[in-house]
Amino acid sequence: MSSHISERILGLSQSQTLAMSQKSNELKARGVDVINLSVGEPDFNTPEHIKEAAKKAIDENFTFYSPVPGYMSLRKAVSEKLARENGLDFAPEQIVVSGGAKQALCNVILSTINPGDEVIIPTPAWVSYVEMVKLAEGKNVLVPASIEQNFKITPQQLEQAITPKTRMVLLCSPSNPTGSVYSREELQGLVDVIARYPDIIVLADEIYEHINFTGSFTSLGSFPEIAGRVVIINGVSKAYAMTGWRIGYCAAPLDIAKAVTKLQGQYTSGSSSIAQKAAEAAYNGPQDCVREMCAAFLRRRDLVVSLAREIPGLKVNVPDGAFYLFPEVSSYFGKKAGDRVIENASDLAMYLLEDGHVATVAGDAFCLPGYIRLSYATSDGNIVKAMARIKESLAKLS
Ligand code: PMP
Ligand code: GLU
Repeated sequence: MSSHISERILGLSQSQTLAMSQKSNELKARGVDVINLSVGEPDFNTPEHIKEAAKKAIDENFTFYSPVPGYMSLRKAVSEKLARENGLDFAPEQIVVSGGAKQALCNVILSTINPGDEVIIPTPAWVSYVEMVKLAEGKNVLVPASIEQNFKITPQQLEQAITPKTRMVLLCSPSNPTGSVYSREELQGLVDVIARYPDIIVLADEIYEHINFTGSFTSLGSFPEIAGRVVIINGVSKAYAMTGWRIGYCAAPLDIAKAVTKLQGQYTSGSSSIAQKAAEAAYNGPQDCVREMCAAFLRRRDLVVSLAREIPGLKVNVPDGAFYLFPEVSSYFGKKAGDRVIENASDLAMYLLEDGHVATVAGDAFCLPGYIRLSYATSDGNIVKAMARIKESLAKLS
């Protein structure tokens, strides 16, 4: 019998971040003491004032369909946030609220990419970008940046990747999976290249904006040379510890915002009414919770880096943001534990899960083999325990 599944979906890879996390949860459910460093989500509870706003929204009957692009009050709050924090000028009409930054990204890609259009993606890159481009039948053009260049591409690399078919450049800073943050000067170098190609759209994933240890954040929307063709992606998942609420947005040129609204109106409608009211409280309320969580991530960053440096054979840099460490692990390839040979990062991640009971994600999932990703959005105690287990399991390889 032929498959009931479309080629579109047969050709799609499963999200490895979510798959590893599920595997770790299954082991946990069977009683194994697994430490989950796979999925990237803050371990903090959503701040109280945000939860209260959601409860109030239910009592006030915000329980009907919301407008497709989101409540105007939330789009205004986002517009004000972009002006206040990033110096950007996006009218509320240019903002479309979606079911997480993930949907916002996919909406924009599906609304702008034609079959065969090229999308430049610096790698390592978050797992879902290339799959979203595949859904749109676009062509992924990957530009690798290894640990030696702090996982950041150069203007020369960008220029070399551009062809007459390039339609979009997708940048994520602070980055998942590396935590690298492009400085204003580094972004300026990339912007100078993009400025020479007026048909290229920039898709800037700024979801980790507030988990940034450099003390300054530059939005790609703030460069006048490319203004008018930058789409900003952001949301409440990471900054306000709200991953389960599913609220993200795009801030885009009006024609793209309208296209995204048309698409969203046909397949999901407006996002959850209650979660939108909570997100509004997040943007309009006190911001100390954001700073407190960032300070905790910085302390954990220092802890995980110092412990990783004590493990022979791991090459580690110091990430400037997000909550990921992306060590180079290829010195372990070809080594064995008993009959088991570690050929690549996927083998290593599986070995660490089964032997050390620590869940990580192989670099292959982020289009840069030879590395693994550790999410350190967990307690100091878990970090210490996990790194000790990784050290011990790796020491058994010979
Ligand atoms: N972009 C990046 C780089 C991410 O790491 C994530 C995390 N899932 C997302 C987008 C999507 O976030 P959300 O939970 O808002 O869908
Ligand atoms: N962004 C997180 C991660 O990379 C959440 C999982 C996902 O959406 O991919 O682990």
